[in-house]
Amino acid sequence: MTAALVARTRAFVRDAVMPAEPPAGVGLGADARAALQEQARQAGVFAPLGPAGLGGQGLPLREWSPVLQEAGYSVIGPAVLNCMAPDEGNMHLLERIGSPLQHERYLAPLVAGRFRSCFAMTEPHPGAGSDPAALATTARRVTGGWVIDGEKRFISGADEADVAIVMARTPELGEAAASLFLVPLSADGVVVGHAIRTLETAIAGGHPHVSFESCFVPDVDVLGAPGEAFRHVQVRLGPARLTHCMRWLGLARRAHDTALDRVRSRELFGQPLGELGIAQAQLADSEIDLATASATIDWAVEALERDPREGANASSIAKVHCSEAVSRVIDRAMQLCGGDGVTLELPLLAFANEVRPFRVYDGSSETHRWAIARRAVKRRARDREGGAPALDIPEGGR
Ligand SMILES: Cc1cc2nc3c(=O)[nH]c(=O)nc-3n(C[C@H](O)[C@H](O)[C@H](O)COP(=O)(O)OP(=O)(O)OC[C@H]3O[C@@H](n4cnc5c(N)ncnc54)[C@H](O)[C@@H]3O)c2cc1C
Repeated sequence: MTAALVARTRAFVRDAVMPAEPPAGVGLGADARAALQEQARQAGVFAPLGPAGLGGQGLPLREWSPVLQEAGYSVIGPAVLNCMAPDEGNMHLLERIGSPLQHERYLAPLVAGRFRSCFAMTEPHPGAGSDPAALATTARRVTGGWVIDGEKRFISGADEADVAIVMARTPELGEAAASLFLVPLSADGVVVGHAIRTLETAIAGGHPHVSFESCFVPDVDVLGAPGEAFRHVQVRLGPARLTHCMRWLGLARRAHDTALDRVRSRELFGQPLGELGIAQAQLADSEIDLATASATIDWAVEALERDPREGANASSIAKVHCSEAVSRVIDRAMQLCGGDGVTLELPLLAFANEVRPFRVYDGSSETHRWAIARRAVKRRARDREGGAPALDIPEGGR
C-alpha cells in the first residue's frame, strides 16, 4: 500500500504540483491551493497522514517518511496534499487525545481540508519560547469553562485558520500546570494581529501575533486532560519534528538533483564540473548528509514507536541532524550552480530560505543539544550506579 502511495505522490507532485509552483519567495494563494487540493483528492494522494475513517490515507507513523519526502520535493507539495505544519501535527494530536465531539467538530473538517488550524504556544518576551515553562498566558476557571488572557506570537497559519490549539497556564490546577484549549479564531476576545514576516513561504497564513482578551472557552473544548498540557504537547512535538525533517529532506533532495544535473552539463577546464575533485567532494558530502538524515529519521521513528521517552531523545537528535544537514545540502547545491545558484533564476535560494528557520522552531539546535547532553550525562550516571563497567580513559591516559 505504501509503495503505491509513494509512487502516486511522486507522480502527482512532479506532474501537477511543480508546474503550478509560484515564483520563488511567493506563497501559494488560497484559490490555487484549493484547486490543486481537489486534484490531489482525485489522484488519491490527499491527507496521507489523516485517519482513513475521516477521508485520509491512514498511513502508520513508520511509513510517513517516504511519502512526506515525495510531498516535500515541492515547497508547496505538503500544503497541497494537506500534510503541512501546523495542520498535520494538530491532526495527529486531535486524533490521539481529542474527544469524539472534538473529532467531529475539528478533526474531520481538518482532514477533509475544509478547515485550517494553528498551534499557539510561543509568546512575546519574556513569555514562552525556547523555555515553555515561562508560559505567561493564563486560563482561569469560570462556570462551564475557562477564560483565557494573554498574547501569543509566531502563530503559523493564524491568518487563515479556523481554530487554534492554545496552551495556557492553569494555576488553579497546580503552580506549574498548563492546559490545552481549542479556540475558534472567530470567538469573542480573539484578535489576530501583526503578521511577522519571516524568510519562508511554505506555511500559508504567515506567523501572526494572536491575543486572547477574556476569551471564554467551554469545557467541551478543553483538549485532553486539564492540567496535562506539558505531557500532551510531547504527543504532538515528537512526530511533528520528524515530519518537518521528512518534508525538508524532500526539498534538499530536489536541490541536490538540481546540482547533479548542473555538474553533468557544465563544462569547466575542459571537462564536466562533476569530474573535478573538489566538486565531487561536495556531491559526496551531500549524498552522505541525505543518507544519514533519512536513516536518522527512520531510527527516531522506531524509537518513538517503542518508547516515548527514548523517542523524545531520538527525535531531538534527528531534528538537529536533519535541520543542519538539509541546509548544508542546499548550500552546496547553490555553490555548485555558481552565480545562478544565488539568483532567483533557480529555486535554490528560496529553498535555503525555506529551511533556515527550521534550526529555530520545533526547538532550536541549541535547546536540543542542551537536552541531549543532559540526558546523556544522566544516562551515564544511572549506568554507573547500576554497576556498568567503567570505560573512562584513565588519568594521564591514551
Ligand atoms: C517560521 C517560524 C514558525 C513558527 N511557528 C510557530 C507556531 O506555529 N506556534 C508557536 O507556538 N511557535 C512558533 N514559532 C516560534 C518558535 O517555536 C520559537 O521561535 C522558538 O521556540 C524559539 O523561541 P524564541 O523565538 O522566543 O527564542 P528564544 O527563546 O529567545 O531563543 C533564542 C536563542 O537562544 C538559543 N538557545 C535556546 N536554548 C538554549 C540553550 N539551552 N542553550 C544555549 N542557547 C540556547 C538558541 O540559539 C535560540 O534560537 C515559529 C517560529 C518561526 C521562526
